[in-house]
Amino acid sequence: MSRRVQIAGAGIAGLTIALFLARAGFDVEIRERAQSLESVGAGLQLSPNATRLLDRLGLLPAIETASVAPQAIELRDARSLKPLAAVALGDFASRRWGAPYLVIHRGDLQRILLDAAIQEPQIGIRFGTQIDASAAADLTIGADGVWSTMRSRIAGASPTRFSGHVAWRALVDVGDPAFTGLAASLSPTSVTALLAPSFHLVAYPIRGGRALNLVAIMRGNAGADDWSQSVADAVPLPGDHAGTLRDLLAPVRGWTRWPLHDVDPSGKWGDAGGFLVGDAAHAMTPYAAQGAAMAIEDGAALAAALGTTPDIASALARYEAVRRSRLARVAGRARFNRFAWHAAGPVALARNLVLKTRTPERLAADFDWLYGFDAAAL
Ligand SMILES: Cc1cc2nc3c(=O)[nH]c(=O)nc-3n(C[C@H](O)[C@H](O)[C@H](O)COP(=O)(O)OP(=O)(O)OC[C@H]3O[C@@H](n4cnc5c(N)ncnc54)[C@H](O)[C@@H]3O)c2cc1C
Repeated sequence: MSRRVQIAGAGIAGLTIALFLARAGFDVEIRERAQSLESVGAGLQLSPNATRLLDRLGLLPAIETASVAPQAIELRDARSLKPLAAVALGDFASRRWGAPYLVIHRGDLQRILLDAAIQEPQIGIRFGTQIDASAAADLTIGADGVWSTMRSRIAGASPTRFSGHVAWRALVDVGDPAFTGLAASLSPTSVTALLAPSFHLVAYPIRGGRALNLVAIMRGNAGADDWSQSVADAVPLPGDHAGTLRDLLAPVRGWTRWPLHDVDPSGKWGDAGGFLVGDAAHAMTPYAAQGAAMAIEDGAALAAALGTTPDIASALARYEAVRRSRLARVAGRARFNRFAWHAAGPVALARNLVLKTRTPERLAADFDWLYGFDAAAL
């Protein structure tokens, strides 16, 4: 007999889980609070640990068409713009980690997932609604993001907490002559991370290279307690570490302010009555660029556990046994990046020396545990 799952949220986690569960024979109903899916968010980095799973859903060709495959992640000094190190991506990433490294607009990824879900007979999607507690379902999944309301139903679940940092995001039309200087100062086919003691800025091409996605992260206040973002005409780069970058960014308008919140992944995720996944369970700050990738990994892992273990409580226990250690390690990498990328003085000098003396092989090997991971292999 088919088992029924209801999911709160048609975000990256909810749609991916629905697709994996439908392929494993489950009947799935998604309830999304929004009336329709707008193109919310900006660029996302999709590392090979995520694209390998999207490939299994048959979605990689559509995703590749909508994304850019950067040639490298370049780390540079924000003031001088001089390179510190580069991790090769492109064909190298596909060969080393068995799947491509891509950058895409979040809205484009969500649209591809939604289109696939709509075509799946075993998935029903209802917009403008929330979870129905009285619905007959074998499992209710909370994939309702960092501001999850499902979380309040689970005693012992970790609350959302403000990280003390704010992301400022903007999209730039590369064809606009106002941005010629900015585009020329960055590698147009790479992810560039510009490091300074009081901020870092990540830039990469999306939408077929027609747009440049900019994210600057620095200390700031939480402001409103949700993701409703205020828009500013300038990014407030702090301190005197911005150098010419401040001038290069001056023509960029429409910066949205995103206070960064996370959720401690060691809290309770739920039980056979209701279970949290994605940002609802373990939102992380974007220093390792792994939030969406973890949501996608959750989908593959949960479907693998539920599809091979008939008892739901046992399946969830099996899932948690694997996902908790993985999430803790990835959150640890995000914390380390935050420390290393915003380092100052002697720590920054030591960081730069280590980065400069590392071979390309050694730099890539540092990502093997992260990008080479197969979340469906429980
Ligand atoms: C500045 C920044 C940069 C980032 N960069 C990256 C990156 O480069 N790479 C990466 O992998 N990740 C990145 N992330 C993280 C990534 O965006 C998230 O981790 C990812 O979108 C989480 O997916 P989710 O499905 O759990 O939540 P969401 O995508 O937030 O989806 C939640 C869904 O649930 C719906 N919902 C909410 N409440 C309810 C309710 N009560 N009932 C029903 N539906 C509800 C919402 O409308 C939404 O559709 C970044 C995040 C930020 C802030």
